[in-house]
Amino acid sequence: MDLLEYMGKEVFKRYDIPVSEGRICLTAEEAEAAAKQIGGQVVVKAQVQVGGRGKAGGIQLANSPDEARQKAEQILGMDIRGHIVERVWVERATDISKEYYASITLDRREGRPLAMCSAQGGVDIEEVAAKDPGAIRRIHIDPLVGIKPFHARYLTSGLDAEAREGAADIFAKLFRCFMDGDASLVEVNPLVLTTDGRVHALDAKVSVDDNALFRHPDYLEYRDILTTDPQEKIAKEKSIAYLKLDGEVGVMGNGAGLVMSTLDLVQLAGGKAANFLDVGGGASGEQIAAGLEIVLSDPKVRSVLVNIFGGIVRCDLVASGILDALQRVDLKVPMVVRLDGTNAADGRRILEDANIDGVTSSPTMWEAAQLAVQKARE
Ligand code: GDP
Ligand code: MN
Repeated sequence: MDLLEYMGKEVFKRYDIPVSEGRICLTAEEAEAAAKQIGGQVVVKAQVQVGGRGKAGGIQLANSPDEARQKAEQILGMDIRGHIVERVWVERATDISKEYYASITLDRREGRPLAMCSAQGGVDIEEVAAKDPGAIRRIHIDPLVGIKPFHARYLTSGLDAEAREGAADIFAKLFRCFMDGDASLVEVNPLVLTTDGRVHALDAKVSVDDNALFRHPDYLEYRDILTTDPQEKIAKEKSIAYLKLDGEVGVMGNGAGLVMSTLDLVQLAGGKAANFLDVGGGASGEQIAAGLEIVLSDPKVRSVLVNIFGGIVRCDLVASGILDALQRVDLKVPMVVRLDGTNAADGRRILEDANIDGVTSSPTMWEAAQLAVQKARE
């Protein structure tokens, strides 16, 4: 999960990494009020999960609350590389003397965090790496040993003398933030030296490992803000693996391999899947019901294909789960169910006895896929 800049700065603050005072705003009026509270010159910054906001016009200086409102009006609703701006961060403007780059990422090949620092900040690090690789100091940090003063001194040795100590101190804090936060990236671009000699994080990019979210209740609020898709929202709450695709056949199965093969069959039958949804190998009836609710609430879905193999889960429980879900959601599209494995016959019988309009049982995956594609067309 990639945190927005303001979220990253909230996290930084907890680690005592210096950031500018600011407010998060959903409207231009809020931006005006924030600028008034902060006082003096402010920066209005688009909050989107993509870089290069500066170049796209998503970062603007404002000299008065009135100007902050105007800039926020311009930025809110802006499309920055496919991301629509829904919030702006208004912060106290910084007088910049120098812009640097600092980051810690996970180097998967080495199996260790990699810290990087460059005196050339405010530009893409990839660009610096291509043109002037010597300008970047890189060092791997043993996670058990942690960052030591000599690491930080080496990393910051290419910066201006007056910035080195402050930047080294920030590196130590960034490393703690990276480790405690289960981050895969913490990046400060630019890290700046201010005209009055302080080192300060002007931007914040923090990516956290989704699999560690359960250890960070404070991230859950961020996840809710970042998950705008309604189906994805339910899926995350119920721990269901869900990915939206752009077809018309809603697919639900148990086990990633089975769902992937189901997607292949839908494709082979001439259709396109609307999603990937895996309720998990040992899914309960309740979990199945939640999965169905997700698929059926997607307006792009024209038919639903449920493909369950009863290995750990029993097909009779799956069938009950389906009936349970159909009580809660309105079945507006045809549904094809293929049940196989443990208690498959019982499961099919339960569905047949319920005799629900629009629900067809199909004995094989291939037949089920063809039928679901055909029904989506009708
Ligand atoms: P990005 O373009 O998405 O990486 O957004 P950044 O937060 O890195 O901002 C881009 C650029 O805007 C920075 O490199 C600065 O040059 C400029 N900028 C951002 N905040 C301030 C500020 O407080 N004062 C000044 N003078 N410039 C700023
Ligand atoms: Mn930046």
